Amino acid sequence: MKIFFVSSEVSPFIKTGGLADVASSLPPALASLGHDVRVVLPLYAGIGDQWRSQMTFVKYFYFRLGWRSSYCGLFQLDRGGVTYYFIDNETYFKRNGLYGHYDDGERFAYFSRACIEVPAQIDWSPDVIHANDWESALVPIYLKDFKSVIPQLSKTKSVYTIHNIEYQGRFGRSILEDVFGLDSSHFNEKLLSYYGDVNLMKGAIYASDYVTTVSPTYANELQYSFYAHGLEGVIADNYYKMTGILNGLDMDVNNPAKDSIIAAQFNPDDLSGKAACKVALQKELGLNVDPEVPIIACISRLVGHKGYDLITNVFHRIMEQNVQFVVLGTGEWGFEEFFRNAAKQYPGRVSANIKYAAALSSKIYAGADIMLMPSVAEPCGLTQMIAMRYGTVPVVRLTGGLKDSVPAYNPNTGKGLGFTFGNINADDMLAAINRAVDLYYSDKDAWVALMKRGMTTDFSWDKSAGDYVSIYEKICEE
Ligand code: ADP
Repeated sequence: MKIFFVSSEVSPFIKTGGLADVASSLPPALASLGHDVRVVLPLYAGIGDQWRSQMTFVKYFYFRLGWRSSYCGLFQLDRGGVTYYFIDNETYFKRNGLYGHYDDGERFAYFSRACIEVPAQIDWSPDVIHANDWESALVPIYLKDFKSVIPQLSKTKSVYTIHNIEYQGRFGRSILEDVFGLDSSHFNEKLLSYYGDVNLMKGAIYASDYVTTVSPTYANELQYSFYAHGLEGVIADNYYKMTGILNGLDMDVNNPAKDSIIAAQFNPDDLSGKAACKVALQKELGLNVDPEVPIIACISRLVGHKGYDLITNVFHRIMEQNVQFVVLGTGEWGFEEFFRNAAKQYPGRVSANIKYAAALSSKIYAGADIMLMPSVAEPCGLTQMIAMRYGTVPVVRLTGGLKDSVPAYNPNTGKGLGFTFGNINADDMLAAINRAVDLYYSDKDAWVALMKRGMTTDFSWDKSAGDYVSIYEKICEE
């Protein structure tokens, strides 16, 4: 099959979160099944010279969007069996950061509209266009409008994946014609109209031939208003064409036996390197060097839905135990300040790294003992899977992909991969942390067995990539 994968971020070129990981690991997994897979993303200023030097210029063209005639440069890079296309327009993408600009609606409408032009420009007829999250939500909508005038798209079907329903792309009604280039017929209850505004994610859910989200449990949760953030009715209306598929990991990239950034490599048969990574991490972060004390880590955006209210609520009770705590992330000012202060309060025991730092994240995965993820909602979550690959035991709330990837440790059977709790309740979280810390100190053999089970669990794309192909085939047959 010919699959055109659209994403606003793709690792290793540019990344702010899990979407970039998925967009870098699912396409090669599909390609390895024998499919022709091409990925498209914006050419942001932040994409480094090591990638730009490998790109070739394909061509440039102009297209109309609303009243504007917009320039589009197209660059190409082939890597790991996948062709990547980069959409170049300096007005929109030569800026600091990826998101958060006043004209994000216009920037990603431009990107989505450019993606729809690419197949004609390279004379390639994809069977499926697969769009992701609000930034490319206009793709399935433009596809419907343009397939009658672009021959290369006449038979193309669309899949839309919700990676996080909290970010929907909601804009004022006035943006529809002028900025998105869509006439008022698109402003209807079965497409873009939403309480008087334009809601791009809603439109994509209706317009797509199939909708997926990133774990079976999250697909189920999205039927409830608590998780669906106002789109529960839209989900209910479209549930007949929706399913949840658990994300996989690139097992080569996330592999402590091959990771060159960490202090020492290790594998399930020889964990000595992990001990070296722990000491190196303690030294680098100014923590007391003590191989015996368990390090609890958090690596995530410091936002409410990641469960930081629970952590800040009982933080001092967590620290009553003999543990160290490392946090890496940026986000809401209140949480950033909390951890900055905590690091001052607990010198040598708490390390607050309020930044985005890929290399440090690898060192934390490798050097920590426990990964804490008390998320209020977690569509899939990759952090817990990466942690398990590195022998770091997860403590998670049973939601979304956390529930699907971290079966609870059962001391009687010795099975399971981590420590879990169900309610959004700080005491319940604390009890789960305490169970983990107790096992760490009291039964080293059981702890090591738990680490090894996580390290040897198959988190690859093998099964999930096949599930996507089944969906592509099903909609193309219809
Ligand atoms: P989300 O997509 O909601 O941000 P995921 O768990 O799916 O969460 O993916 C987060 C990814 O981003 C993981 O690969 C994680 O290691 C990485 N990450 C998150 N915060 C940081 C940070 N501050 N520095 C480096 N990597 C980070």
